[in-house]
Formats: sequence, structure tokens, C-alpha cells
Amino acid sequence: MKQSCALHIIEGLKTSPVGVCLLDRDGYCHHPNSSLLTLTAQTEADTEALLHGEGRRQLLDKLGSLFAGEISSFTLHHYRINTAAGALDLQLHISLIRNEQGQPESALALIHDHSEQRQRDLELKQLSNAVENSGSAVVITDAEGNIQYVNTRFSDISGYHLNEVIGRQPSFLKSGNTPREVYAELWATIRKHQKWRGTLHNRRKDGSFYWSLQSISPILDENGVLTNIVSVSDDITQLKEHQQQMERLAFFDPLTDLGNRRHFRDKLEERLRSRSDNVSALLLLDLDHFKKINDTMGHEAGDTLLRTVANRLRFCVNAPHTVYRLGGDEFTVLLDDLHSIDRIRDYADDIIELLAQPLDIGTHQMQVTVSIGITLIGIDAMDVSSLLRNADLAMYRAKHVGRNTYQFYSPEMNSEARRALTLEHDLRQALDRQELSLLYQPQIDLQSGRLVGMEALLRWNHPIEGPIPPTEFIPMAEETGLIIPIGRWVLLQACRQAQAIREQMDSHFRVAINLSVRQFDDLGLLSTVESVLRETGLPADALELEITEGLMMENFDSSVKVLGQLKQLGVTLAIDDFGTGYSSLSYLKKMPVHVLKIDRSFVQDIPEDRDDLAITSTIILMARQLGLQVLAEGIETEEQRQFLLASGCPIGQGYLFDKPLPVETLIERYLASPPASSQ
Ligand code: C2E
Ligand code: MG
Ligand code: MG
Repeated sequence: MKQSCALHIIEGLKTSPVGVCLLDRDGYCHHPNSSLLTLTAQTEADTEALLHGEGRRQLLDKLGSLFAGEISSFTLHHYRINTAAGALDLQLHISLIRNEQGQPESALALIHDHSEQRQRDLELKQLSNAVENSGSAVVITDAEGNIQYVNTRFSDISGYHLNEVIGRQPSFLKSGNTPREVYAELWATIRKHQKWRGTLHNRRKDGSFYWSLQSISPILDENGVLTNIVSVSDDITQLKEHQQQMERLAFFDPLTDLGNRRHFRDKLEERLRSRSDNVSALLLLDLDHFKKINDTMGHEAGDTLLRTVANRLRFCVNAPHTVYRLGGDEFTVLLDDLHSIDRIRDYADDIIELLAQPLDIGTHQMQVTVSIGITLIGIDAMDVSSLLRNADLAMYRAKHVGRNTYQFYSPEMNSEARRALTLEHDLRQALDRQELSLLYQPQIDLQSGRLVGMEALLRWNHPIEGPIPPTEFIPMAEETGLIIPIGRWVLLQACRQAQAIREQMDSHFRVAINLSVRQFDDLGLLSTVESVLRETGLPADALELEITEGLMMENFDSSVKVLGQLKQLGVTLAIDDFGTGYSSLSYLKKMPVHVLKIDRSFVQDIPEDRDDLAITSTIILMARQLGLQVLAEGIETEEQRQFLLASGCPIGQGYLFDKPLPVETLIERYLASPPASSQ
């Protein structure tokens, strides 16, 4: 039988790579070729409904027109069908086949699969949408780094629009603050076809700066050749600023804006790690009497003062040297890499001189001075805490030698300090271990040589070091507060001893006891004195309390108050070491005291020193005119006794008569068998 035209054609297209079939006017599929069967994953058995899909209505309409001879071909795009292999997006191109008589016989469908392409288009569209609307800035360049694309976010951040940047290199964004090495590393990474992540500091179109966290990726073609570079970045300026603020808080002192203790430690550690032949020094500065200023003028004034000091230090100390505030009124200066120790002295001198310039605090003009301890980094010690301790020791030495000066650390300071620390520790136990004792120095009537009383003097017999002089351990007891319990013990012992003598040997006997600065500050002093008197039975007028002139002048108003209260109790009050503390006559008149004790330093050069002769006789005269008793300390020679007596001083104590003695010896010498006449 003669084949129809349609079959003839279809036969010829059997092996075509394009899917082919015939369609009748109802849209049923006939003679699908193998490409179509593969595409639709169908077996040949049931292929009639092969092209029944979503657009079937339109297909039938068009087929109607085709078979009616109105059109000769048509194309349907995106004709979707469902197959065992999933949904397919097809392009159908359908042409009418006529038989030999020219009558419509069949329709030839050429079928292209557009699923993948469509998927790709869709994905691309989604991708570019995502890129365009991304919260991150996206820049795409070609392999040479010329910008081909930037998204909206990039424009928002940088201020540059797409048309302003196309074809340019992204380097126009550089602020100049990103280190060169960062860019070098970036390009090396990209050249290795790897992704680079890092932070760049950029400049916006308006000139302001921003921090950009970048992720830059190379795009390679199928042959591994670099075609594009894609940068995705975020503006992290706020984050960075926040971070920097946190860092500032962690490393800088908010009051003065100087580096703080942590910053100082880091810098010093760094200095210790880097070795250099030049000298570097740590200067520890402590303002003199800052606490007093703070207490009397208020904290605001104190803050202003600290800020002024910080500014002056900044002025004196330039890079590479650095200044820090460790806290309170403590500052440090690190002097780096100097060629000689003399340069360190120059710096210390400059600092002392500049700080001593008068400064205005509110309406007040005032002056601060500073004590500086200096230690050499890497020479005196190799670690931060030893260096700080050295500088501290040297600073204390500077205070000790009169403030407003500097001292270099020396190893002896260390052993002195260690000894002081050990002694301090031992002193705490001295009372309990009964290492403290009292000696008594006789107070003598210079005319008759009779004993009139005694001064109690404290002794510490250290189990290892032996006797420690009171001039050494009493300041220590004052500093640690131990003077309060020790002072109470002295008071009790001495009063008890004196009362025993009064009861057994001399009913007029008196005792003098030294009081320290700290005991004066103690609110309990008055009640301690009262209770000791009550407990021992010693009458108040048999007790004399000595306060040094220097102490009294330091806290004049409060001293006058406490002295007034003690006077009310009926005890006698004496100014010890008189003549050394610069008290004026007007002050002396206001002090509620009974006795002046002329300091040993005026007595010792009598009769050789004419000044001392004059001073001593003047003090005696002045005391008598003010109605005060006088007593001379440190009488060592007969001439001294005679001069003092002739000048009008009736009582004295000193080695001429006796050194401080154990009470038994004193009783034996003076009370058991009193001397017959004056010496
Ligand atoms: P001070 O109260 O002025 O005591 C007089 C000091 O001069 C005593 O020294 C005494 O031994 C010494 N001395 C007395 N006569 C002579 C002399 O003729 N020549 C020389 N060169 N020295 C003489 P000491 O016992 O070493 O006491 C020193 C200071 O320690 C005392 O000076 C006093 O300020 C303080 N002190 C002693 N005991 C106590 C105490 O129980 N409490 C307090 N707060 N201070 C005390
Ligand atoms: Mg005394
Ligand atoms: Mg004295």
C-alpha cells in the first residue's frame, strides 16, 4: 500500500535528535520518534495522550484552525506537560501536512525541551534579584578588576551610582588607612584562585570614612581561567566604632584620657620583649599631698587637678615616650630607647619643674609637687611587677627625702624595704610575745638633783635583731595603726608603775608618757585615758602627756580640741621637742598646754653655740611669760645644767643624770636611798 505523506515524513525523522510526532485534530499523538519518547520517558504502548498538557485548550483551538486550512503552522512556547520524568516545559512547532490531493492530513509536531533553559533563566532572574536587593553591597569586576556591576546597597553605602563606577577600578574607594600589606595579601589570595575575607577602610563619595567587611571571590570559567571577581561586603563602621569605644574604655582612663594600668602593663611587657642596647626607664609619679587637696577642696577640684597634671605630662613627654594614669594620683611615664641616663634625669627635672608651675582650680591658684621613683627597664628587673615595685620603693624614698624630687631605684632599697616589711610583720606580734618593755628616764630638779618624775620610753627587743630604736618602729606602728593598742599598753603600764611608786615611796611622783599623731586622731583616746586612770588609781594630775610640736602644728584645730578635752580631765599636757616645729607665739597662746620641753638639739651645743644659747634662754623666757613650765631635754654636761638653771629652767632630763632605766634600777637609785644634795 502506498504510504501517506505524513508517514513518509515521520519515517524520515525517526532518528532526529529533535522530538517528533504526528498530531491528529483532537491533539492525540501518533508515531512519536525515539527522541520524544526519551524526553517524556514513555514506552510506546500508551503514547496517545503524550502531549496532553496545561495548554491543551489552546493547542486544540490552534489545531482546529490548522486543519481548517486557516493557518499552515504555529508555535506554542512553554507548553507544560507532566511526565513520569517530571514536569516539562516544551516548545511545540506544529505544521500542517497535506495529502497528495492537498487536503489536510495530519500535523507534524517538532518538540523542543525548554525546561532546563527556563530553569536556568528562572534561577538567573532570582539570583540577580537577590543580588540587586541584597543587604550586602555587591561589586562584580572583570578579570582585570574593572567594575561591571554594583548593586543598590553598594550605592547606598558608598554614595556612588552604577553609572559613576562602571569601568573603574575599586581602588578609588581606598581611604589610605588600610595597610598596604592587606591589599597585597588580598591580591595574592585571588591570584591563587582562593576566596579572601578581611576588613578594608574606605572613603565614601562625601569624603567620610567607613569600615567594610569584605568577602572577595574569584569566578573561574570551565577551563579554570579567571573571568570575574565578585566582592560582597558589609558596612561595619558602627560595629567597629563600638568596638573601638569598648577598647578605649578597657585601655584608657576616662578622666584624663591617658592610657590606664592595663595599657601600661601591655606596653611595658612589649618593651621587655624587645631587646635594645639603649636605656629605657619607668618613672612612677605620685603627687605630693593630693589626698589633702582632694579632701579640703572637693573631688571636682581634685579631678581638675588630675586633668591638668595629665595635660602637663603629655606636654613634657612626646612619642615614642608614653604617659599613663594608674589610678588615684599615680602616673607612670615610659621613656623608651634613650642614649644615656642623663636624658632620664632631664625628663625627670622637666616634669618636676613643669608640674610645680602654679595652676588655677576654680577661683583658687595652687601649686602641686610630685615625687618620682625611677627604675631602669631590663636592668633593674625583667618583669612588670618587679619594675613597679622598684619604682614604688624609689618613689617612697623620694617622698622620704623631702618630696618634689626624684630618686633612682637601687638594690639596697629592696633589702631595706624587705627588712621594713619583716619588722612590720613582727611588730604585730611583739605585744603578745611580750617583746615590748618600758624604760624610764628620770626627770630631775636641776637645783636639788631630786627626782620629780619620769618619762616612759618604749623599747622593742626583737628576738633576732635585738633592740630596735623607737625612732624606727614607732613610725611603723603609726602607719599600720598598731600604735593604738601599743599606746594603750604603754599608758596602762606606765600609770600602774607610777601609782605603785606613789603608794609605796613618793606620793608626789609623776609620770610623762609620749603620745603619737595617730593616737590623737583616735576617737577613743579620751575614754582610754579615763579608763586607765580609773583602773590604776593614778590621779589625773600625776599624769603628763607629751605631744610633739610638729604634730600639733599639722592639725592645729583638732589638736587644740583634743588637748582641751584632756585638760578637762585634769592631766598635764606638754609640748615635746619644742623649738623644732615652727610654732609661733600666737599659736602657742591658743594651745591648752602646761609644759614646754626644750628639744635636745638646742641643749646639746650649749655652751659653744651662741645661737643655741640665745634660743634656749628665749624659749625659757617666753614660757615663763606665758605662764608655762619648762623642762630641758638631753642635758649631758654640768655646764648645760648650770646654764639652764641660771636661765630659769628648773627641771631637766638627760644622760648627765641617767639614761632611760628599768624601773627597778630607777627605784634603787633614786627612791630607795635618795641622793643627799645636788650633783
Ligand atoms: P622623746 O620623747 O623626745 O624622748 C627623748 C629621747 O631622747 C629618748 O630617746 C631618750 O633616750 C633620748 N635622750 C634622753 N636624754 C638624752 C641625752 O642626754 N642625750 C641623748 N643623746 N639622748 C637623750 P628614745 O628613747 O630613743 O626615744 C625616741 C623617741 O621615740 C622619743 O623622743 C619619743 O618621741 C618616741 N617614743 C619613745 N617611747 C614612746 C612611746 O611610748 N610612745 C610614743 N608615741 N613615742 C615614743
Ligand atoms: Mg618625750
Ligand atoms: Mg623630746
